Amino acid sequence: MPGRIKNPWLDPNKEGKGRGRRAKRYCVRCGNTVRQSRILKAYNLCEYCVQEMKKKKEKNWVCLGCGRLAPEEVKVGGGYCRKCLCPACGKPDPAYVKIAGLCRECAKTAGVFCIRCGKEAPAQVRKNKGFCDLCSKKK
Ligand SMILES: [Zn+2]
Ligand SMILES: [Zn+2]
Ligand SMILES: [Zn+2]
Ligand SMILES: [Zn+2]
Repeated sequence: MPGRIKNPWLDPNKEGKGRGRRAKRYCVRCGNTVRQSRILKAYNLCEYCVQEMKKKKEKNWVCLGCGRLAPEEVKVGGGYCRKCLCPACGKPDPAYVKIAGLCRECAKTAGVFCIRCGKEAPAQVRKNKGFCDLCSKKK
C-alpha cells in the first residue's frame, strides 16, 4: 500500500481545533495563528504569506526563476533554486535549463563537442543532434 502523502500544512480545522503544541503554531512573518489560517509546517508561514512571497518573489525565500518556495536552495543558488541553475556551470538560466538541461552557454559549448566521445566536430554534431558521424553510426 502506498504511504499516505504527508500534508505540509497545519490546518485550522484540524490542528487549529486541538489543544496541543501544534494548536499554538503561528506564522513567523505576520503572526497569524493556525486557528486563523493554514500554516506551512516546515517554515512556520501562513498560506497568505506564502502566496504573497511567491507573488513578490521574495528574496532568500522564493526562486527568482520559477517562483518556487525553496529557501535552502535559493540561498545556495544565489536567488535561484536547483532546478533553475545549469548543472554544468551553476549559472541561472531558468527557461533554457528547463528545456535543454543546460544553460544557453553550456548548450552552445556542448553543441560543438560530440556528447559521446567529446570530439570537436560542430557540423557533424549539429547534423546528428549531438553526436559525431562515427558515434552517430554506433548508436
Ligand atoms: Zn503569515
Ligand atoms: Zn527555480
Ligand atoms: Zn551552464
Ligand atoms: Zn563521437
